[in-house]
Amino acid sequence: MESTSSPSQSITPLQQIGIIGGGQLAWMMDKGARHLGLDLRIQTPHPTDPAVAIARGVVYGAIDDATATTALARQCQVITFENEFINLPALTQLEQQGTIFRPSLAALAPLLDKYDQRRYLQAHHLPTPAFVALPPNPSESDLLQLGLPAVLKARRHGYDGQGTLILRDRPGVAAALNRLHSSSGDWLLEAFVPFERELAVMVARAVDGTVVTYPVVETQQVDQICRRVLVVGDLPEAVVAQVEAIAQQLMTHLAMVGIMGIEFFLTADQQVLVNETAPRTHNSGHYTLNACQTSQFEQQLRAVSGRPLGSTALTAPGAVMVNLLGTAIPAAAYADRLRSLSRIPDSRVYWYTKEPRPGRKLGHITALCPQDTASDRRVYAQELIQSIEAIWYAQT
Ligand code: ADP
Repeated sequence: MESTSSPSQSITPLQQIGIIGGGQLAWMMDKGARHLGLDLRIQTPHPTDPAVAIARGVVYGAIDDATATTALARQCQVITFENEFINLPALTQLEQQGTIFRPSLAALAPLLDKYDQRRYLQAHHLPTPAFVALPPNPSESDLLQLGLPAVLKARRHGYDGQGTLILRDRPGVAAALNRLHSSSGDWLLEAFVPFERELAVMVARAVDGTVVTYPVVETQQVDQICRRVLVVGDLPEAVVAQVEAIAQQLMTHLAMVGIMGIEFFLTADQQVLVNETAPRTHNSGHYTLNACQTSQFEQQLRAVSGRPLGSTALTAPGAVMVNLLGTAIPAAAYADRLRSLSRIPDSRVYWYTKEPRPGRKLGHITALCPQDTASDRRVYAQELIQSIEAIWYAQT
């Protein structure tokens, strides 16, 4: 889907791109950067971080270290992000001195804290679950104000479900209170949504205001961590239209230049609620590397370097992506399992070369679904997922 919200401006494409963050999302930008002939330079804390291997230059420093970003800015024409754990106030001075951030800091500001993000969505009449901010040291009644079940979320720095607690009963509330009282950050309480499915979409916006959306996908989480993404194209048109409209509106309201992943809950009455936005490439868009004309990684680089956006069309009828999380098996046993996965037809394994830890995202696999009809693709996608998980998540 494509629309233009402002007239085209003449744009001089930029060449040296700085990335704050050196994890797998920056690592997967390599192919797109080569295709566009760009130099990637990254800011990341450790020499073992995945993207160090593909970067033209590296500034070592924590993600929120503005001094390191100052050094990065000297080497680059534009700076973008691979995660949102940034130090916005410290970067503001750099922006005022002329560093170009894409997305701009103003576009990022409402999104970095989950409470601010929900308030922004609400102010723009975009549907979200009911939510309230919690005071410091909340009481039991604070946690019960939306009834049970409810969901408690760290307002900042939550990822892979680590800052998300589902409160199901009174003992769960008591355990959560203990955790809250020993934590330093701020928390948000929101209504539990009894969703039918979880959906996600990638959306990109160019410097000239053009917005493109990728196919709407289904995500499946296990223990609040994304395990699988299904791209089978069996969602009702009205649901797809709601998702696309929200994605368009959000990018336009924010005037965001770059790419964003948006996660949704689909309710039983086919309403779509925004769960979360991520102003960067996203796990739910990894399939685009193998199943779309332009990957989400190349698209981010196109947007932030001032190039026209690429086509978001699928190059296969469908696809699945399964995350390869660290398990309890000895790390040496991963190699056998990776070999078995590589035999799955029309598949590609990405291994991020990160230090293995149970529950950590260590890699992912994408496999294509060639069937002509959506119902056949769903059946095949489920079979693929079963085979992949039987290999990767086998107990012994
Ligand atoms: P993270 O930012 O760590 O990915 P999320 O806010 O996306 O955390 O939550 C992780 C998962 O927890 C979601 O994908 C969903 O399965 C579940 N979840 C989160 N919020 C709610 C909610 N309000 N109602 C029901 N389930 C929720």
